[in-house]
Amino acid sequence: MALPIAFLEQVQTLLGPKGWTTDPDRLEQAATPWRGTYKGQTPLIVMPKTTSETSKLVHLCSEHNVAITPQGGNTGLVDAGTPHGEVTLSLRRMHGLRDLDSFNNSITIEAGATLRTVQDLATDADRFFPLSLGSEGTATIGGLISTNAGGVSVLRYGMMRDLLLGLEVVLPDGEVWHGLSGLRKNNTGYDLKHLFAGAEGTLGIVTAATLKLFPKTAKSTAWITCKAAGDIVKLLALVREHAGDTVTSFEMIPANALEMVRKEHPQIRDPNPSQHSWRVLCEISMPKENQARSVLETALAAAIECGLAEDAVIAETLEQTQRFWTIRETIPLSKRAYGTAINHDISVPVSRIPDFLDAADKQLKRNYPGVEIIAFGHVGDGNLHFSACEPANRITPKLAENAAEITHLVHQLTTEFGGSISAEHGVGRLKRDELIDIRSPAATAAMRGIKSALDPKNIMNPGRVVPRD
Ligand SMILES: Cc1cc2nc3c(=O)[nH]c(=O)nc-3n(C[C@H](O)[C@H](O)[C@H](O)COP(=O)(O)OP(=O)(O)OC[C@H]3O[C@@H](n4cnc5c(N)ncnc54)[C@H](O)[C@@H]3O)c2cc1C
Repeated sequence: MALPIAFLEQVQTLLGPKGWTTDPDRLEQAATPWRGTYKGQTPLIVMPKTTSETSKLVHLCSEHNVAITPQGGNTGLVDAGTPHGEVTLSLRRMHGLRDLDSFNNSITIEAGATLRTVQDLATDADRFFPLSLGSEGTATIGGLISTNAGGVSVLRYGMMRDLLLGLEVVLPDGEVWHGLSGLRKNNTGYDLKHLFAGAEGTLGIVTAATLKLFPKTAKSTAWITCKAAGDIVKLLALVREHAGDTVTSFEMIPANALEMVRKEHPQIRDPNPSQHSWRVLCEISMPKENQARSVLETALAAAIECGLAEDAVIAETLEQTQRFWTIRETIPLSKRAYGTAINHDISVPVSRIPDFLDAADKQLKRNYPGVEIIAFGHVGDGNLHFSACEPANRITPKLAENAAEITHLVHQLTTEFGGSISAEHGVGRLKRDELIDIRSPAATAAMRGIKSALDPKNIMNPGRVVPRD
């Protein structure tokens, strides 16, 4: 971990006193991920202020063979942005707005800006930036691009990759690729921006991005009670028959997750208490609120009539909408407080979700009696946050010591159901090696080829995403 003295001196001269730190508390913070389930280490944090500084810095790292871990908000969930001996390159000082073009519906902003900042800037310009997720106050544009983040509006607007128009990237040799552009049509060869979306910092440092904006929409949000997962899948189809592509979010919440939330936060209540096993949070966006509400009401009346929904409440105010979403967003932390949770971010075709849940439930309960399954999340995208849980006070705890076996079981079943073991969180170090057996060998070879072509010295976030030869 000792860095060459000449390198350190040049970094200090380049960045000035505000541009680097070796303060032990700051190093510890940078090496501790959001979940805190593992720890990394880093000898130095560098914080360039401009693309030019980033370029010179990366050039220095390349010259001295110093490995870098780019870091935004450090909210990633797959051990990709936590340094393990690398220098941490934090983008947090690069957050300036470069351009907002309302008529082109685009915004160009530096990579260290948070998602919330972009949402607010869009709102101020009477526009809308649709990416939305639980970490939006901390997660940065660079991190969201580099993990190709998803969230709760993917059903309508796609993942971060779909919202990307252009990029500025410092490549592993320090060269800058100036690819910022607000063009929707630019058919001039390889579409390089897509290479960096989801690359988890292994191919270069994203310093700025041009993103799509949309006209503002009004929302109508319903909290729906359902009896079975099979009904939820059919309900989605029915709502889409009525609302088409205006269905923005369709989130599934099991009753046992609600119970965990209620235990941790007694002030949070089920908006429509019931004995049934599932709730759905469904949001429709249209230009006018009364349009959205009317479509949602008609769809829900039809759903109740044919027995796909048992009951439903439509939010009357923004505050009530936020209360619905707070329940959904509080599940991860409530799970953590409840006890052990072995978490999985998986996707299967939407049509196969009920059978998958059934099979996973049977297998896990047979192998680990007393296990509690929490499966919630973006059912409209086929994406489940699937956890095997047990309470902290269990007399003979079983799950933690069997975590690897449980994950193997869940991932194997996911693959059998034609799914993905990483729906939206990415690969990092966590899933890198497991994917060797799942991904086509040709795809792994192509990924290795791309990595070594762009980063022959392997200094850019080494050991993440791409398995070793
Ligand atoms: C409470 C919570 C809820 C979440 N919900 C969702 C969700 O619904 N959907 C979803 O998809 N994800 C979700 N996530 C995870 C999500 O991946 C991250 O929140 C976000 O995408 C990471 O942004 P970040 O700035 O924190 O990046 P970091 O964690 O700092 O980094 C993530 C990766 O990107 C790389 N990176 C960061 N910045 C740059 C850059 N400028 N250039 C190149 N590489 C860079 C890092 O090296 C690392 O590989 C959630 C996380 C939390 C904590």
